[in-house]
Amino acid sequence: MKIVHTVNDLRAVVKSAKKAQKCVGLVPTMGFLHEGHLSLMTAAKKNTDFVVVSLFVNPTQFGPNEDLESYPRNFEKDAILCENAGVDVLFNPSVDEMYGPDYSTYVNCEGDITKVLCGASRPIHFKGVTSVVSKLFNIVSPEKAFFGQKDAQQVAVIEKMVRELNFDIEIVPCPIVRESDGLALSSRNTYLSESERKDALVLVQSLRLAEQKIKAGERNAELIKQAMKALIETVDYAEIDYVEIVEATTLKSVQKLEGDMLIALAVKLGRPRLIDNIRLWV
Ligand code: AMP
Repeated sequence: MKIVHTVNDLRAVVKSAKKAQKCVGLVPTMGFLHEGHLSLMTAAKKNTDFVVVSLFVNPTQFGPNEDLESYPRNFEKDAILCENAGVDVLFNPSVDEMYGPDYSTYVNCEGDITKVLCGASRPIHFKGVTSVVSKLFNIVSPEKAFFGQKDAQQVAVIEKMVRELNFDIEIVPCPIVRESDGLALSSRNTYLSESERKDALVLVQSLRLAEQKIKAGERNAELIKQAMKALIETVDYAEIDYVEIVEATTLKSVQKLEGDMLIALAVKLGRPRLIDNIRLWV
């Protein structure tokens, strides 16, 4: 596996892979890798011939009071995990390499899709995401790019961006990887104390409760959300950011469940704000 730190070096390696007719896959990450990230690499290995993983804690997607400085990092361990996963190139640029002095060009999806759910409490987040992902797309020009459904809104926003800016790249959404007890893997789970880790199960339990209610015939979004919130609030320090039921591709809120639905939540549990979701056809 090659480790490169500059845009020029990455371009050079990708160029020779393309010359050899290889189909290039990109997996963007912020590192502190876990099985969720590794599942994207496995999917990329299966569906492409040359896998590029980017590892960059992107400052432009963090708000002023968010966890940019303390975001967990372990480059040495991440590099070993990538190598073991059969990754061809690991791109680990500095902030300066990605955003030089006087940097001022951004890609921003201005639709409601970036203002709802996580966008409501993180107003600059998706602008940072679409900007950095566009830069990575321009540097690598992958045939396919792999993203986790864990960040369902991110997938929806990037798919919209790819359509609207005519990127010739296939977006491959990959299923959420969970711990055996159901907690969705996240680099931010490391912030949880032992007891918070146990309490965090209430998130997946609330999603399962919604699923059960839907299977039993409930279609009223408000009633389902109320039941989910009541369950989450059994953890007295849980601070609900949102519990929403939306159309899975447009992220428009629904009153009556029908079609391709996304049930999504964000809850602050002690230090971390955790997100989770399920997508289901009703
Ligand atoms: P991050 O490093 O948190 O920016 O995540 C990088 C990529 O890994 C994103 O596409 C995430 O959606 C994906 N990812 C993170 N956690 C999981 C998970 N538990 N299951 C599947 N994909 C995930």
